[in-house]
Amino acid sequence: MEPFRRICVYCASSNDVHERWRQVARETGRLLASANIAVVYGGGCVGLMGELADAALATGGQVFGVIPQRLMAAELGHDGLTELFVVDSMHARKAMMARLSDAFMALPGGFGTLEEIFEATTWTQLGYHDKPVGLVDAHGYYQPIIQFVQQATELGFIHQQDRDMLLSAETPAALLATLQAAELPVRPRWLGGAER
Ligand code: AMP
Repeated sequence: MEPFRRICVYCASSNDVHERWRQVARETGRLLASANIAVVYGGGCVGLMGELADAALATGGQVFGVIPQRLMAAELGHDGLTELFVVDSMHARKAMMARLSDAFMALPGGFGTLEEIFEATTWTQLGYHDKPVGLVDAHGYYQPIIQFVQQATELGFIHQQDRDMLLSAETPAALLATLQAAELPVRPRWLGGAER
């Protein structure tokens, strides 16, 4: 796979989380900036999003935010980014974040993060893009989700080939290496299954 130029990072907007999660966001920002990979993210200044962006910028990296007008008006946008794109809707935002990026990472987060990473995975599953997707399972944060996905796979709700598209690793650096080594593109099942 070509080296990544930009990676989309989904992560928490909450400020009410332990320092250990903030540390993961800063580690990710520094890692991507040091690897000369630009960060694409939700454009916020709050929670892990702010930590991620600030750390990448402080390391000399490029950071692109994509934020809906409504959140921008609530003064939740980061004002020090390389570029902040303000769009009309959440749908436009997610489409633009996906279009700009070569791969997707989810750091710990809540509903927004889960929704975004599952959507990116679904788009890979359906062949709308062929970009690798993964979870930073720091301190076991994503174990319940990984176990749920395993159960859904065993019960036949998720096909093994599709399950394998959602990668994970315990650290941002390990996930970056896993994403870079991912064997994609995978042809969607309805186009005749895996082609690796
Ligand atoms: P959550 O995990 O529920 O905190 O949602 C975080 C994700 O949703 C981020 O990856 C953003 O793309 C988006 N998001 C949620 N809240 C905000 C916010 N206040 N400012 C910018 N983006 C947000």
